[in-house]
Amino acid sequence: MEAAATQNSTPKAKKNMAKEYLKGWVPYRIKRYWFYAAVTVMVMVMPWIKIGGHHIFLLSFDHKKLEFLGVQFDMQELYLMPFLLMLLFLGIFAITTVGGRAWCGWACPQTIFRVIYRDLIETKLLHLRKTIKNKQKEPDMSKPENKVKKAIAIALWSLLAFVASANFFWYFVPPEEFFVYIQNPAEHPILFGFFVGTALFLIADIIFIKENFCIYVCPYSRVQSVLYDDDTLMAVYDPIRGGEIYEGHGNERHKLYSKKKELLAANPNAECTTCESCVSVCPTHIDIRKGLQLECINCLECVDACTQVMGALGKPSLVQWSSERETMRHEGKTRIFRPKVIAYFAVLTAVLVALFVMGSKKEHMLLNINKEGRLYKITPEGTIKNAYLFLFENTDTKRHTYYFEIEDNKNIRILQPKKPFGINAGRKKRIVVVLEADGALAKGLKGNRPISITIHAYATDAPKKVTVLRKASFMLPPESLLKQKRK
Ligand code: SF4
Ligand code: SF4
Repeated sequence: MEAAATQNSTPKAKKNMAKEYLKGWVPYRIKRYWFYAAVTVMVMVMPWIKIGGHHIFLLSFDHKKLEFLGVQFDMQELYLMPFLLMLLFLGIFAITTVGGRAWCGWACPQTIFRVIYRDLIETKLLHLRKTIKNKQKEPDMSKPENKVKKAIAIALWSLLAFVASANFFWYFVPPEEFFVYIQNPAEHPILFGFFVGTALFLIADIIFIKENFCIYVCPYSRVQSVLYDDDTLMAVYDPIRGGEIYEGHGNERHKLYSKKKELLAANPNAECTTCESCVSVCPTHIDIRKGLQLECINCLECVDACTQVMGALGKPSLVQWSSERETMRHEGKTRIFRPKVIAYFAVLTAVLVALFVMGSKKEHMLLNINKEGRLYKITPEGTIKNAYLFLFENTDTKRHTYYFEIEDNKNIRILQPKKPFGINAGRKKRIVVVLEADGALAKGLKGNRPISITIHAYATDAPKKVTVLRKASFMLPPESLLKQKRK
């Protein structure tokens, strides 16, 4: 009835019905553009923001430090790294299980860059491509004016590729240092080489490799399908309403119908118009009506295309951002909070808590203690001396004055250094330390073995905040030697 009424309507009535049906509809494409803009601004601005003098994220190989959410960690403190990696991988697994390749369609730099180059530069700015609704049709490069436009498109993208490359390196070299280094390529050939190499790769990738990167190179596309289940959100074609267009499974699938007439002859209720708008708009050149495919990057362009086609007929889209359970098999609503997803989020929460607990134990100074090669020295008076090299590092944001004491052995005292010493923020200092125990004090200590001692080092100007405890050994000579000296 509805279909007959639609078929009998005048073009004006059809247009009005489409207008009415699509009133207030915002295509996913527009939502994605806003999301891309937000992601781009965030990624560009983040390296410039500092909290308490430290970046939100900076992994500096040069200064051997990690800055995360305004907290600085020395390379020696990278016990947090496994937690960060666990968060990254568990996060990817959880997001993929719930939203399929949502990352690819909504936040991956490759997709964003391709949209900038193909849809913005080539199509909107230069009109090299006729419409963003047809991504299959390549520009006619036999026309001289198109060659000029292509050259302009490449030049524009090359400029942006260098900006993107610089932005990438700001997460490893702070922007303020990056611009200084890059002005002296001879002094910083490795950084300069990587910066230019990354930009050249981006130019080749976005202009020539295109979505083949997503299909053949990106390892994520290989992993994601094993994480999917019946409730994973993705672009799904409704074969019950639209009609089966393909038969077979996997790579064996082949097309049954290309024309509406043929489809209706086999299935009079099939709603698919076989217009192929969903196919021509697809950046990875696949037909979503075939079912789940590795090549799908979840950009939802096919959902928008079919929403417009079916909206004109006053019907919902045949391609939905939904799950196989809901749209393909009509077996009820998509279950977002299922046991697998709850388990992922429970583990993610546990890792996050562990990360914050470990992070809160961060020490604001570092101390490495190395014993001198010679085990001990005995003076003619019978005093036993042990020498050490203490490496202090001020990991705080301001200068401090440091000293230390031996916490658990009153028989051993500090001979050198006599006074506290200052270290500037972020700097290290090596201090030669001599501890001693005289003959009388050493009484009761058994010789020829190391005695475990606890060094309590601290900033004299902030003893509660900047403080560490370290174990060390004090070596005593053999008992016989001690007795000899005591005589
Ligand atoms: S089938 Fe194509 S257009 Fe549709 S979401 Fe996947 S990649 Fe995008
Ligand atoms: S856009 Fe919709 S109606 Fe057109 S071919 Fe694709 S699924 Fe069928």
